[in-house]
Amino acid sequence: MKITRFVPSVLFGENAFDDLNAWIDKLYPNPQQYTVFVVDAVHRTTGLLQRLRPAPQDLVLEFDAPSHEPKTSDVDALRDRIVAEKGSELPRVVVGIGGGSSMDVAKAISVMLTNPGSSADYQGWDLVKHRGVPKIAVPTLSGTGAEATRTAVLTGPVKKLGINSDYSMYDHALLDPKLIETVPEEQEFFTGMDNYIHCVEASHGSAMNALGRPFALAAKASVENFFLKEKNYADFMVGSYFGGSSIANSSVGVCHALSYGIAFILGYRHGLANCIVFNQLEEFYGEDVRTFKAMVERHRVQLPKRVTKDVTPEQFEKMIALTYMLERDLVSTFGPEFKKALPPEKILELYGKM
Ligand code: NAD
Ligand code: ZN
Repeated sequence: MKITRFVPSVLFGENAFDDLNAWIDKLYPNPQQYTVFVVDAVHRTTGLLQRLRPAPQDLVLEFDAPSHEPKTSDVDALRDRIVAEKGSELPRVVVGIGGGSSMDVAKAISVMLTNPGSSADYQGWDLVKHRGVPKIAVPTLSGTGAEATRTAVLTGPVKKLGINSDYSMYDHALLDPKLIETVPEEQEFFTGMDNYIHCVEASHGSAMNALGRPFALAAKASVENFFLKEKNYADFMVGSYFGGSSIANSSVGVCHALSYGIAFILGYRHGLANCIVFNQLEEFYGEDVRTFKAMVERHRVQLPKRVTKDVTPEQFEKMIALTYMLERDLVSTFGPEFKKALPPEKILELYGKM
């Protein structure tokens, strides 16, 4: 039985951010309870943090997205801070404001306030036992689709893997296209390409169905329009939400499986790691990789070359193991016999080209 899930309500429009507090009061009308805002630390400089209007009992936690993508230890530390201040009292809602990193941290905190132990214990599929605290996504960077997916991607002590569960989906999303206008161009490109790659992988994969496909196709078109025609921020932001809605109900593929190793061992951020990998996948995704290359060229994006030249044999072993850990994505791309289509030698050959 496969149940399709979408974020049930969306507040959309330019300057919708100004209605955030009123929306929270409408959704969760209990003003005595506190709200947790998890905010990308970059918003100290964009001015968005200053536009938040927390009540005295609310907690505003910054996540240092400019320095790194989220780790399980970040989530555990922030959860412990909330518990230290508020004891067993739960917030009425957790609001994640930022890029995929900050939205994922907020998602994970919502779940870790109601489930015991470390967030590392829940990296995998459907390991979360209890519903989390309600949550609202406020993306300020478009492409990951984290506002609409079932996963909170975290780097843990032994692996980079998401907490994938129905409880890690947002209950609501506030989409304000003005919020993404401050993103630096290179970042806009790499995260935008994450959406493009999600949609290419999802629509080629067997996990896709007729209900998810239109979302993937619309999302893919939004990225092509943005980078090959004109920059329309509203369409681009909606494209990210659609892309997330599509992968929430299907699966990514071989590019993401290979990119986790590049991120975990070599430290490249998610969007860039995917671009490094996708650039070498013409044999799997022909026309789409050629379109990707046209977008790279048009925006004069410099992709790093020969990133794996100093990788040791032990590190390659680990990268291969990480690739196979994303079994669902590989099954979606190649079928249950994925190891025949993508044996370790083939993985090494592909990594060697990157
Ligand atoms: P990010 O959240 O890591 O942010 C990248 C940079 O952009 C940071 O420096 C951040 O501070 C900055 N930034 C964000 N908004 C800004 C704004 N409005 N103005 C200026 N700067 C801004 O980047 P991302 O690509 O959105 O997210 C990557 C993370 O998301 C990775 O951890 C990846 O694994 C994860 N991810 C999650 C999902 C999911 O479904 N949950 C899907 C794909 C990727
Ligand atoms: Zn991705």
